[in-house]
Amino acid sequence: MKLFVTAAFAGAMAMATSATAQQQFVTIGTGGQTGVYYVVGQSICRLVNRGTAEHGIQCTAPSTGGSIANINAIHAGDMDMGVAQSDWQYHAFNGSSQFEGAAVPELRAVFSVHGEPFTVLARADAGITTFGDLRGHRVNVGNPGSGQRATMDVVLEALGMTTADFSLASELAPAEQSAALGDNNVDAIVYTVGHPNGSIQEATSTVDAVLVPVDGPEIDALVASAPYYAHATIPGGMYANNPNDTATFGVRATFVTSANVPDDVIYEIVKAVFDNFDRFRGLHPAFANLNEAEMISAGLSAPLHPGAVRYYTERGWM
Ligand code: GLU
Repeated sequence: MKLFVTAAFAGAMAMATSATAQQQFVTIGTGGQTGVYYVVGQSICRLVNRGTAEHGIQCTAPSTGGSIANINAIHAGDMDMGVAQSDWQYHAFNGSSQFEGAAVPELRAVFSVHGEPFTVLARADAGITTFGDLRGHRVNVGNPGSGQRATMDVVLEALGMTTADFSLASELAPAEQSAALGDNNVDAIVYTVGHPNGSIQEATSTVDAVLVPVDGPEIDALVASAPYYAHATIPGGMYANNPNDTATFGVRATFVTSANVPDDVIYEIVKAVFDNFDRFRGLHPAFANLNEAEMISAGLSAPLHPGAVRYYTERGWM
C-alpha cells in the first residue's frame, strides 16, 4: 500500500513537472502603438499562439520605446526577443556608436522584416523643404530608446548639425508626435518607420503636412559608409497632400533575440511565421512585398540564432 501511494505520488509529480516545462511565456519588444513594430510583434505572437496547445509557447508583444530599448531589454534578460533597426543591431553586436563600451555579444539575428525610411514630416506652414531648413525650428527628435532618436543623432552629425540648431528639440513618443504637429507645438517630426503607418497617416490627415527629402552628398556618403543603410523612397500618394515620391535613406526592421533563448523556442517562432507566411504578409501593408530569401539575410549583422538556422536549413533555404 505504501509503495502504491509513493508510485502514484511520483507519477503525479512527473505530470506536474512536464506540464510546467511545457508552459513557456515569451515576450517580444516592439515600439509605439502607432508604428509598425507593434504590428510585427502582435502578428508574430498571433501566429505563435495558434499553436500553444502543441508547443506550449505563449507569446506577448507589449508596446515599448523602440529599437534601443528592445536591445537593452534583451541584454538585461527582461525580454526574449524584439524588433530593432538594422543599424542598431549592428552597433549593439559590435559595440560601436551608441553601444561603444556596451556591446551586446549575445545578440542574435532571427530575420529581417520591412524597410524603414528615415522620415521627416513638417507642417506645410513652416516652409521646410530640406533637412537643413529644420534649423531654427521646433523639431520632435524622437523618444529616448527609439531608433529614430539614435539615428537622428547620426544624421545630424553627418550634416554638421546638433539638436542645439533647433529652437526646440522635443522627445515625444510616436503616439504623441502627430498630435503635437497638428496642435502646432512642433514644426516637424522625425520617425524611422515602415510605410504606411498610423502615426504619419494621423498627422497628414489632421494638418497640411509635407514629407521632407533627406538627401544630398552627406547622405550619399553616409549610405556608402555602411552596409545597413540604403537609399529609400517614400512612395507618392500614400499620404494626404503628398502626391510625389520623397527621397531619403533608410534601414531595415529586424527581429532579434539572445543566444540565451533556447533553440526550440526560436525554432517554433520562426516556424509559426514562415509556415504561415501568406497570412503573416497579409497582416500589414508594409509586409506585402516581403520575401523569404531577403528576410533571412538582408540587414542582419549579428549571427543567426541556431533555432532559426535549423528551420531555414529544413526548408532548404541555407
Ligand atoms: N524604428 C523605430 C524604432 O526603432 C520604430 C518604428 C515602429 O515602431 O514601427 O524605434
